[in-house]
Amino acid sequence: MKTEHPARDRPLVYLDYQAAKPVDPRVVEAMLPYFTERFANPASLHTMGDEAAEAMESARRTIAAFINARPEEIIFTSGATESNNLALVGYALRNRRKGNHIVISEMEHISIHNLAKYLEKNGFEVSRIPLDLYGRVDPAKVRARIRDDTILVSVGMASNEIGTLQPIREIGELLQGKGIAFHTDAVAAEGLLPLDVERDHLDLMSLSSNDIYGPRGLGVLYVRKGIPLTPLMIGGGQENGLRSGSENVAAIVGMSRAAEIMREEREQEVARLRTLRDRLIEGVLATVPKSFLNGHPSARLANNAHFRFTGIEGESLVLLLRDEGIQAATGSACSSKTLEPSHTLIACGLLHEEAHGSLELTLGRFTRPEDIEAALEAVPRAVRRLRQLSPLYKEEVPS
Ligand code: PMP
Repeated sequence: MKTEHPARDRPLVYLDYQAAKPVDPRVVEAMLPYFTERFANPASLHTMGDEAAEAMESARRTIAAFINARPEEIIFTSGATESNNLALVGYALRNRRKGNHIVISEMEHISIHNLAKYLEKNGFEVSRIPLDLYGRVDPAKVRARIRDDTILVSVGMASNEIGTLQPIREIGELLQGKGIAFHTDAVAAEGLLPLDVERDHLDLMSLSSNDIYGPRGLGVLYVRKGIPLTPLMIGGGQENGLRSGSENVAAIVGMSRAAEIMREEREQEVARLRTLRDRLIEGVLATVPKSFLNGHPSARLANNAHFRFTGIEGESLVLLLRDEGIQAATGSACSSKTLEPSHTLIACGLLHEEAHGSLELTLGRFTRPEDIEAALEAVPRAVRRLRQLSPLYKEEVPS
């Protein structure tokens, strides 16, 4: 995707789709009437209220079909962070009598890690499953952590940083019949993998609207029928009493349109992205000495290229690329305010200095081959420049 930048003679190249995606213009079109003519509150008893409620329920059916769930199992939230809060804290509080042990993986999004710490401060015990060097969770390690007092297991569907896919179905299968709820944060994967809560034996699943090119500020928590949660947002009792507050009908209609488009176009789009991503990975590894791919070589998201470069500091690289018009990231935007290296890379066994030398490039619906070519020119040039400036690197690799 190229965005004109007034201060530049060149368009900007956007390769940070994991941090934010543009809303698809077809989604915007579907949403527009709900800001103006069809603005009514779906809880209102009048005709316009009924029409808003019908639009919302139709959207709920479409989103339910997108993940093979029932409409009454879809709870609208303000985003994936809130969905994760409702899943972990809502489930933990409601099921405390059954036990106080929760299992997560070391790969999780920062919101899950911080929720786990919050629960620990509030009397729960959390076990964290280690990762292999590709960032994978071994289902046998999940099995080994299960105890009589385990009430919840939460493993993300894929890493939002290094793109590694997790064996969700296998974990779902091994938890079957144990009375332990299984949650996944599917945000990183939802625009790239087919989602099916039955196939994967999921009880709770967090989704975000923007990750399928819908508007921001809307998320979903899938809650399997019969899974009890304590609501965290108290008020008028909307969303089955689980999430009070007037629903954002325009955004809900937008997410539903986004899900329809994703269903129709995903397969073809994933094949296209994979080709572009492979060209990017192969090109960078071939042209930059001492460059490595983070994450799994094949079990990875079709839009994710995550590199590390010996002797390079990721933030300097992102800033040099910025000067070249490339919008890139060192890792998760959600963690960019901390100076800590990526917890995921450290859990994969990287040293701090290795983890600091990372670059995440993520592709999406509006990425074109010329964007990849631009990155393939800019990245080797930027790495070379940084290494020339670094006395440490010169000592290590005489040029
Ligand atoms: N989970 C994952 C895997 C994410 O990548 C993100 C950020 N996009 C979130 C949760 C949080 O989403 P939000 O900022 O929309 O609440």
